[in-house]
Amino acid sequence: MTEITAPVSRFETVAAALRSLGGQARPVEIADEVRRLFPGSYTGNLLQSVRGRIQECSSDSHHWKKKRDLFYSVHGIGGGVWGLRDMDPLNPVNRDGFSDSVESYMAFEGAATLRTHLRRERSKSLVNRFKKQLRTLACSVCDFDFGKTYGELGHGFIEAHHKVPVSELEPGAATRIEDLAAVCSNCHRMLHRSGTLSIEDLRCRLL
Ligand SMILES: [Zn+2]
Ligand SMILES: [Zn+2]
Repeated sequence: MTEITAPVSRFETVAAALRSLGGQARPVEIADEVRRLFPGSYTGNLLQSVRGRIQECSSDSHHWKKKRDLFYSVHGIGGGVWGLRDMDPLNPVNRDGFSDSVESYMAFEGAATLRTHLRRERSKSLVNRFKKQLRTLACSVCDFDFGKTYGELGHGFIEAHHKVPVSELEPGAATRIEDLAAVCSNCHRMLHRSGTLSIEDLRCRLL
């Protein structure tokens, strides 16, 4: 039997418990796992403490302390299930969540911002409504039209890009159809390449 030594700080304890649970769980399950793995490591209200550590160390939470970004909300805030970022099957990231250096802090911020942005663009029902009201499915930067190039296969395909920089959004603000722009996959990548380009900026850069 392998012996697990208690991690030094509490967010590491929570992360270790979540890892042991397979990477995704509810706070109440995480608290039980902490109790099982590290008996006596917590005093006071364990569940409250687990919730607090998760929120402080998750860019998905309004209570994020902007230092470590270890946890993500699996079904969105309020869904109740939390995951460990480095075990996220949909979003494989290769980051050392425990490092405090300035460089990795900035990398966290960038990655967290991009993730928030992409999540806003992936709401299925919103994107469907968005596409329905478009007059054309051509890219609003370069005019590429998937249907015209790929025929039947490309028919109806276009990506949605969220125009408002995530840094300028109120926490928890809903995405409106007007916030989205139709872009082809190439232009979408280029918009995100430096993190700050607007549709107009990118259009001006086309050669
Ligand atoms: Zn384009
Ligand atoms: Zn985008």
